[in-house]
Amino acid sequence: MTPAGVLYVVPTPIGNLEDITLRALNILKSCDLVLAEDTRHTGQLLKHFDIGKPMLSYHKFNEAARQEQILERLSQGGHLALVTDAGTPGISDPGQRIIAETIHQGFRVEPLPGACAFTTALSGCGLPTDEVHFLGFLDRKSARRRRKLESCLDIPGTLVLYESPHRIEKLLEELKDLMPDRDVVLARELTKKFEQWVRGRAEALWERRQSIKIKGEFVVMIGPEIS
Ligand code: SAM
Repeated sequence: MTPAGVLYVVPTPIGNLEDITLRALNILKSCDLVLAEDTRHTGQLLKHFDIGKPMLSYHKFNEAARQEQILERLSQGGHLALVTDAGTPGISDPGQRIIAETIHQGFRVEPLPGACAFTTALSGCGLPTDEVHFLGFLDRKSARRRRKLESCLDIPGTLVLYESPHRIEKLLEELKDLMPDRDVVLARELTKKFEQWVRGRAEALWERRQSIKIKGEFVVMIGPEIS
């Protein structure tokens, strides 16, 4: 018989607290345990929605150590909700490892649709969305970043990546060098008070970089080569 343990993958808001689904709230209310990237951060979210629930930290530094404990709870029939600080777990966030192991051990994984910076940015960017390649975060090291971007030059469709504000200017320089004519969209602080969209060719954005506010969280999208 299949064990009744379930791991729910629960997206949480990326800024605006209204962006949590009714189903996500119901799962957080009814589950046995919340696996949280940062229990203090998630504690505030749960408090906001008046949910009192035991939490266990699950982040990139303890995911191996936590595995046995989590699988044990699932084998006892536990319903566990996996959340990260913001957005969808497993998307440039902790989760992938325990999700894979849960599937491997024969338990059910149930992902909920919901907030994700990648899909939110893509849906409003105005670039082609019929073919998309998601790069997550680029490496911090210059040579590796360049190599990665060079390897993407022939990929058809729109490229999407997450970037820290500390490296946005560096990225604009790399894009100006490697793909100057491509359309680039910067989606900044999505769903928050200072949400901002910056659009232009890579070379033009590099030239006007001083006028771009490099603060907060960014999704960067690069349109396909124009033939
Ligand atoms: N799992 C998350 C998701 O589904 O959106 C992504 C987590 S990743 C650690 C954080 C990165 O996502 C940020 O550095 C930024 O690139 C992007 N991001 C998250 N929230 C954002 C927002 N409100 N506006 C723009 N980008 C955001």
